[in-house]
Amino acid sequence: MTVEAARRQGVENFSVFSNHVLIEPPLRAIVNGGETKVDGFIGPGHVATTVGTDAFEFLPREFNLPVAVAGFEPLDVLQSVVLLVEQFVDGSVESGNARVDNQYARVVRSAGNTTAQKLMDRVFSLRDTFEWRGLGWIEGSGLGISEEYAAFDAERRFEVPGRRIPDPITCECGSVLTGHIKPWQCAVFGTACTPATPIGTCMVSPEGACAAYYNFGRIDRQVTLNLAKTRRSAASAKR
Ligand code: SF4
Repeated sequence: MTVEAARRQGVENFSVFSNHVLIEPPLRAIVNGGETKVDGFIGPGHVATTVGTDAFEFLPREFNLPVAVAGFEPLDVLQSVVLLVEQFVDGSVESGNARVDNQYARVVRSAGNTTAQKLMDRVFSLRDTFEWRGLGWIEGSGLGISEEYAAFDAERRFEVPGRRIPDPITCECGSVLTGHIKPWQCAVFGTACTPATPIGTCMVSPEGACAAYYNFGRIDRQVTLNLAKTRRSAASAKR
């Protein structure tokens, strides 16, 4: 919308370096042909608002993986977890009938926002390939600015050095993202790598898996350990 508005208003000193991405190619990389240990997905409500729940249908159809498209309030997320668990409890997954549930139905439609999709199709064009932190190069997963809007494309207007910054060798974001390890199983989790000193992308963003485990799971574990310690001390004091 911003690029389109700039064109309509004849703004010339505005350019965009598009690093937008698509959702299906990385999900396919994570599912890895059904090899990955992921039981189900919470579909992001903001993405689904535009692409619709239809964009996630390939997961149950091809891999029998359940999906719950979720809103962002705590109760939305909790209800989405319940919806996922119910697909296991009611036998849907076991019988090969996993499905996409739409918890965020107050906003998300199955076809998404078709007006936005049409505009995106005009403004962006599919890149041949795009490099994802932790997942590597994935074909057809990124969006550049289309020919029609080339006047706003920073890559065309300026020299953008194609500098690659590889993931540090100690970082296991790829394994975290594909569900092979939990964040706390990474050797530097919570020591060298924290939200204040992030090493990998999963710790940089507050919604990254490592940051979430650090901010919540780590504290819960510490609270649990402290409680256990207090109980043990109280019990031995009684004796
Ligand atoms: S804890 Fe840090 S280094 Fe380890 S996987 Fe997560 S982001 Fe990467």
